[in-house]
Amino acid sequence: MVIILGIESTAHTFGVGVVKEGKVLANKRNMYTTESGGIIPTESAQHHCECKNELYFEALDEAGLAGKENKIDAIAFSQAPGLAPCLLEGMKFAKELSKRLGKPIVGINHCIAHLEIGNVTGAKDPVMLYASGANTQIIAYAAGKYRIFGETLDLGVGNFIDTVARFAGMGFPGGPILEKLAKESSNYIELPYKVKGMDVAFAGIQTKLRQMIESGAYKLSDLAFSLQETVFAMLVETAERALAHTGKKELLLGGGVACNARLQEMCKIMCDERGCKFFVPEKPLLVDNAAMIAYLGEIMFKAKVNVFQPDELDKIDILPRQRTDEVNVGWKD
Ligand code: AMP
Ligand code: MG
Repeated sequence: MVIILGIESTAHTFGVGVVKEGKVLANKRNMYTTESGGIIPTESAQHHCECKNELYFEALDEAGLAGKENKIDAIAFSQAPGLAPCLLEGMKFAKELSKRLGKPIVGINHCIAHLEIGNVTGAKDPVMLYASGANTQIIAYAAGKYRIFGETLDLGVGNFIDTVARFAGMGFPGGPILEKLAKESSNYIELPYKVKGMDVAFAGIQTKLRQMIESGAYKLSDLAFSLQETVFAMLVETAERALAHTGKKELLLGGGVACNARLQEMCKIMCDERGCKFFVPEKPLLVDNAAMIAYLGEIMFKAKVNVFQPDELDKIDILPRQRTDEVNVGWKD
């Protein structure tokens, strides 16, 4: 029986999770938020530092491991990609625990963890539409690697939505507020549609929406509705093309934007039309979380991939810009 403790710290969320033989025993998280503006990396790292101990003990409690830390077999942490100060905070904590408990650590790619946790929902070999604040990618396993079939050429879809919401004077995060507003309208106003090959781009649409909001000539609910219809269609189009290209029969959602009911509905319609299965993890496993880090950590620990003993900790460092297709997937074969 293998028990893995996971640590997530790539951006705004610090999390501690516990997984035992593929079963999530604990999944604790705390999110850094701002009154206005986006994430300030050093402030977010400070947030992580302040909440790490509390979350750690809460997770142990929830997993029934209070006072039994020695039962943990390894510590998995988000090694890549993300904001360097935030990643460093998580790694520091992982290394402290590794030394104190005398257990190895496992370095995890956060994007692949979003994909692997899809197994819990029943997905076996999916194409993943990963739509979060900073990331927008279509990822699938093909020819020995996790490959990015399409991605944003500029900003992540969540950051785009949050920025537009900010132009309209809404709070952060803007996604859920915009989703509610969009329900009040069915008046579609044409917006630029930016799909380039398998990639998508949001900066031009953002500029256009800013002008429309500043002109005062449009109802915000119409703009919210039109934004969702346009950019989600872009995402669904590229995801569908990846399904066609790879011949895979499953679509999986990941990332905070994937909480949006309209995006889920559009994905479901596309999958039904193609005869594909559609998977959405429950919210605690969809957003940034540490259970998915522990989950992939267990798989990699068992396969002895990217595992370091307490006396080798200087051999492992954060990889803020690691690309999904650079990851050694020794556990897959
Ligand atoms: P993540 O980076 O994966 O934690 O996701 C955070 C992003 O998801 C933020 O940009 C949010 O605005 C966005 N988000 C959360 N809920 C929703 C929603 N219901 N609709 C659209 N975007 C959302
Ligand atoms: Mg994420």
